[in-house]
Amino acid sequence: MKLIRSSLLILGLAISPLALAKVPVTATFSILGDLVQQVGGDQVSVSTLVGPNGDAHVYQPTPQDIRTLAHSKLLVSNGLGFEGWLERLDTASGFKGVKVVASQGIQPHQMQEEEAEHQDEAAHDHADADHDHEAGHHHHGGLDPHAWNDPANVLVYVDNIARGLSQVDPEHASLYADNAARYKAQLQKLDADYRARFAKLSADRRRAITSHDAFGYLAQAYHLTLIGAQGISTDAEPSAAEIAGLIRQIRSEKIPALFVENISNPNLIQQIERETDARVGGELYSDALSPAGGEAATYLALLEHNLNTLLAALEK
Ligand code: ZN
Repeated sequence: MKLIRSSLLILGLAISPLALAKVPVTATFSILGDLVQQVGGDQVSVSTLVGPNGDAHVYQPTPQDIRTLAHSKLLVSNGLGFEGWLERLDTASGFKGVKVVASQGIQPHQMQEEEAEHQDEAAHDHADADHDHEAGHHHHGGLDPHAWNDPANVLVYVDNIARGLSQVDPEHASLYADNAARYKAQLQKLDADYRARFAKLSADRRRAITSHDAFGYLAQAYHLTLIGAQGISTDAEPSAAEIAGLIRQIRSEKIPALFVENISNPNLIQQIERETDARVGGELYSDALSPAGGEAATYLALLEHNLNTLLAALEK
């Protein structure tokens, strides 16, 4: 018996360095999860709270999320008010590790004033109507959180992630720096290729409607006007008057294309299609990846899919 125990002990010691080598990291949503995986490679074990096709705007953390975060050494969040539910989760988990706000250092966009007001009202109504649904009550602080939809911002995200990983695992700092540099080069190449294609669009083919305002940063990067039918978050339903106003705008400005999203119900966009000459040009991945094996299972695939889908509808 004693012999078996000591053998197990030796075995345990022999495998533990391998098991310990992986750095447990929690990323708040699927896009960040992929970025951490790209930078961390084999050295990290990534847990993602809001998974593929998930909507982080209205997420409600689970008891499992508390345990996951408690066992992590690094927490990577988007910031800019995107994860309104994170502070409570953080407190509940007693997390003692390093926190990285991936968007730190980017130039944030302000929400349109009208949207910010609408947002506050919606959050209020929501909280009054349903006190238990805390996840719907979030604070954007007047900033547009969807900074990842401009690849130039993701260069900053990747640097922040590499710095956080190096802080919790300094032994592999040069590996993280190499992975980050290689990934950023891929991103810059893709961005440059698409910028050249978007530059050729004529002025009247640069406007479109998306489900919610997730593409403000992308629109600025590629010189488009993308209007969200639902506003900046997904927890606010537009009123009948707002929908009517949008339909009038699409008709008068001859906006050619509409896009549905992987995280939103397509009904509103389909209703607008029936009442205007604008046509649905496909599905964009706004705030989440597709499941593994899908068409947007990584951030690079997501970006390429979104830019291709926009161009296919707008280049006509
Ligand atoms: Zn969003």
